[in-house]
Amino acid sequence: MQGLATSRDGATVTLADGSVICGGRVWSTLPLPALAQMAGAPRGVLVAAAGLTQRALVLVYLALPIPRWTEYDAHYFPSLDVPFHRVSEPKRYRDSADDPRDVTVLCAEIPCDLGDATWCATTQELGDLVATSLEREGLPSAAPVHVEARRVPNAYPVYDLGYAARFAALDAWAASRPRLLTLGRQGLFAHDNTHHALAMAWAATDALRDDGSFDESLWAAARRDFADHVVED
Ligand SMILES: Cc1cc2nc3c(=O)[nH]c(=O)nc-3n(C[C@H](O)[C@H](O)[C@H](O)COP(=O)(O)OP(=O)(O)OC[C@H]3O[C@@H](n4cnc5c(N)ncnc54)[C@H](O)[C@@H]3O)c2cc1C
Repeated sequence: MQGLATSRDGATVTLADGSVICGGRVWSTLPLPALAQMAGAPRGVLVAAAGLTQRALVLVYLALPIPRWTEYDAHYFPSLDVPFHRVSEPKRYRDSADDPRDVTVLCAEIPCDLGDATWCATTQELGDLVATSLEREGLPSAAPVHVEARRVPNAYPVYDLGYAARFAALDAWAASRPRLLTLGRQGLFAHDNTHHALAMAWAATDALRDDGSFDESLWAAARRDFADHVVED
């Protein structure tokens, strides 16, 4: 999406290829700062948007020539001495006859900041870092036969001093736009789980009346409930 305009009568979205979609409403799960940019929010709102920061993440995938790595689906590493905070084995979450039997893949999640040394590291460097760190933690060998890396720019909202006021300014701007709803992890700057994001979507659909109007008070009540969401890992 490149641009967004809403009015009391409807909404228009301009896509990256220049095509335009017209509709009754826009419900956005984009990062709220990106939405404000695309919708041409006033300068004060964009300044607040620039102050809302997120931790980034590099996902490092190690292919191992073994059927299973350990008996657990995931290992958590709370220590700051370990570069990743979780290593999971996706094969543990699925059961498909099509999967190769003698190969497994680990996924290491390395939190970082955009442009820092981790973000800019090569795939080879990241693979070596994960394998050697796992060995140092006394875990079974994770010498990979192949490594892939993927970078996630907006992974975790940073709740620094002053974030609440900046978020409130953006939230108030979004609420002032007719026929626009911001929701989801990125849309509400929430550190949440998938089931929380689904609960937000269900609450939004509950607030949409049959005649196409939106029950703002029902949504406001749902927003208060979202404050009780607690991340489960
Ligand atoms: C590393 C990590 C691990 C997680 N593990 C778990 C877990 O084990 N269990 C669990 O329940 N939850 C987990 N979560 C949380 C879960 O991923 C979220 O709760 C869920 O994805 C939120 O859904 P959403 O649709 O609100 O936001 P998202 O899934 O973040 O969707 C936002 C979308 O906006 C798109 N977007 C961003 N910027 C732009 C832009 N400028 N233009 C266009 N599109 C853009 C993104 O590509 C994305 O598709 C994890 C999250 C992270 C980051």
